[in-house]
Amino acid sequence: MLFVLTLVIFKTVLSISCAEDVQVDPNGYVMYCPCMGRFGNQADHFLGALGFAHGLNRTLVLPPWVEYRPSDVKSHQVPFNFYFDVKPLEEFHRVITMEKFMEELAPTIWPPEKRISFCYMSRNSILNKGGQKEADKGCNAKDGNPFGPFWDTFKIDFVGSEMYAPLHFDVHHGNAGAKWLKKYPPDKWPVLAFTGAPGSFPVQEENRALHRYLKWSEPVRAAAMSFIHKELPNAPFIGIHLRNGMDWVRACKHIPETKNLFSAPQCLGYNNEFGLATPAMCMPNKEIIICHLRKLLKSSNYESVFVASDNNHMLKELANSLKKNKIVVKKLEPGNPHIELAILGMSNHFVGNCISSFTAFVKRERDSRGLPSSFWAFPDERTAKKSMQHDEF
Ligand code: GDP
Ligand code: MN
Repeated sequence: MLFVLTLVIFKTVLSISCAEDVQVDPNGYVMYCPCMGRFGNQADHFLGALGFAHGLNRTLVLPPWVEYRPSDVKSHQVPFNFYFDVKPLEEFHRVITMEKFMEELAPTIWPPEKRISFCYMSRNSILNKGGQKEADKGCNAKDGNPFGPFWDTFKIDFVGSEMYAPLHFDVHHGNAGAKWLKKYPPDKWPVLAFTGAPGSFPVQEENRALHRYLKWSEPVRAAAMSFIHKELPNAPFIGIHLRNGMDWVRACKHIPETKNLFSAPQCLGYNNEFGLATPAMCMPNKEIIICHLRKLLKSSNYESVFVASDNNHMLKELANSLKKNKIVVKKLEPGNPHIELAILGMSNHFVGNCISSFTAFVKRERDSRGLPSSFWAFPDERTAKKSMQHDEF
């Protein structure tokens, strides 16, 4: 009897929790592939997509993060909630992980024959039809890497394409939300599945603040805290990001012809209100780095510097130059981008690279918590002088 009762209770609990799980949003869903760039770019895009889904009042399907491993030609998809908690996002808007959506909702509201991919305009691909080359005018959502591997992770094939131009993702100006609703009412279009993120890079200014709902998952947080407790002295520390790999050297060459390269609006402002990008901002030399750190060390009782880098951590050079200040200089070993980001987020002061979207992640997180940050070689000395002169008059 007791056994049966337990079974009934168990089944009830199960069905209640399932009933909760399978609730369909009558306003529909936004789904997309984070198909451009690595983590920093994908995080910018994510905030855009979150703002967009909110503006359209559709549930956002949380896509896995797309990762590239040197040993593999195909991208790897890491579930969204491996790195971030889902709950805090729900405080802002309705969301569901892509795994859950595909398992529990797709079979009924988005069966294989209804899967249309959305793109602004056609992504031409050349099909080889019986020896004849022919241009395909659809979205070709699965063409190339990571496009194919991403949708394949969920066994998704598309039966058609929908070009949505001239609609756009900016839901903060004009009445974009109403226009999307009119053209794609949710009863006819329950899922808008985008070939790329419905958001801009760098993140639109109005969506920056949404970062406050993006919270590291418990394992990432725990790993970051464990490093801080075990490896750093029990005192305030500075976190720094040194972006200096080969791809970055190449990217920085574009500084002279680009006023606001990549994530530069995070320090220069979206309209270059605070100056122009300089090569030193993109690739600060040792003197700039040491000088910046020495100034910070004068201002507070820091005892260590945590260095995150994609290439050269400069541990020895930094330790030598800061010997007089008795500063411990450490990196995470083995390196791990997400744990390093979390540690940088927890530092007492953060110095980052204004051009980098990897830095931008940390800057936004810290802004949302009211923590201080600065950038290498910013403000540019000339700009700083000019603004001082300005102040004097
Ligand atoms: P951006 O290129 O600097 O704008 O940032 P992205 O995230 O788009 O691409 C850079 C990638 O390089 C990151 O996603 C990381 O995989 C790697 N990377 C950059 N900086 C660091 C770092 O400080 N530590 C680690 N572990 N990896 C980094
Ligand atoms: Mn990048």
